Amino acid sequence: MGVENVIIVGSGPAAYTAALYASRANLNPLVVEGEAGRAEGVPGGQLMITTEVENYPGFPKGVQGPELMELMRHQAERFGTRIETGWIGRLDVSKRPFTLLTTEKKEYHARAVIITTGAGAKFLGIPSEGQLMNRGVSACATCDGALPVFRNKKLAVVGGGDTAVEEATFLTRFASKVAIVHRREELRASKIMQDKARKNPKIEFVWNSVVEEILDVKAGRVTGLRLKNVKTGEGSVYECGGVFIAIGHSPNTAFLQGAIALDEKGYVKVTRGSYTSVEGVFAGGDCVDHVYRQAVTAAGMGCMAAIDAERWLESQEH
Ligand code: NAP
Repeated sequence: MGVENVIIVGSGPAAYTAALYASRANLNPLVVEGEAGRAEGVPGGQLMITTEVENYPGFPKGVQGPELMELMRHQAERFGTRIETGWIGRLDVSKRPFTLLTTEKKEYHARAVIITTGAGAKFLGIPSEGQLMNRGVSACATCDGALPVFRNKKLAVVGGGDTAVEEATFLTRFASKVAIVHRREELRASKIMQDKARKNPKIEFVWNSVVEEILDVKAGRVTGLRLKNVKTGEGSVYECGGVFIAIGHSPNTAFLQGAIALDEKGYVKVTRGSYTSVEGVFAGGDCVDHVYRQAVTAAGMGCMAAIDAERWLESQEH
């Protein structure tokens, strides 16, 4: 049985930064990253589906999300990080070394594990959303916005945070009109992004509204949204040719259920930096953090997890 010093699960800024630090500490880390094409499993994490990143320090002119991930990956590989593709379905912490099992039944064993699996898009959870997925329903404007199905159409974005406002602004490049459909009458998005959206003549706001159904499942394409005004209870239909769901994220931690402590929303509970409830298992990035959720904070937490793992492994030898 081959036993790794440290296995890093994930493929975003937290994972690559943990790998960079662990490889420079001569731990010869192995990164197991999600497979491309699976929902939210694109190696490189959420930044792979982002365009311009303007707030990552060191890039005064901005950098494309996928390029930033490529650079981080290469930097980790330069110091000997090995990267394999696999989807971890289970972590067994009942004995050491720990066992990680992929959904394809490949087994890995490791003295220490760093969890950096990030978070993925949340959905409304209504049946029509699933039935019309990729037929006019999307959770990623930067991935899908330029597709012919959305061009020159009236579109809707559901949500009121930075993602919703950013996606709506981006979509105005292709769409004839974009409605931001929000359940309150106040946006959660940062002031600067709100101002930009409010000045955009192609953006309109539909306040106090929740989506009850995406139309038209029978037709097999999006023709509109059946909305309910949460203040008046009134129903209405907003006609549009596509809808983007941008209502936040939830952590990719289902495979950790029962292995390490998670909070009520599924985020990994950490103490003393990156220590989880199981000694030898560390975590960082968006799977831990529902407050800051930035590339730079994820990278910082990846660094913390690698340093904690290194020190813990060293303490085990004495
Ligand atoms: P978010 O800030 O959590 O916003 C989610 C939005 O969706 C909220 O407006 C929320 O409404 C709404 N919502 C949640 N569940 C809903 C449901 N079931 N039905 C209808 N609406 C629902 O998420 P985010 O916009 O994805 O942003 C996440 C983090 O990334 C934030 O820290 C953000 O600042 C950051 N971010 C930054 C940038 C940037 O700086 N360029 C871009 C994107 C994201 P309520 O407001 O009523 O809760």
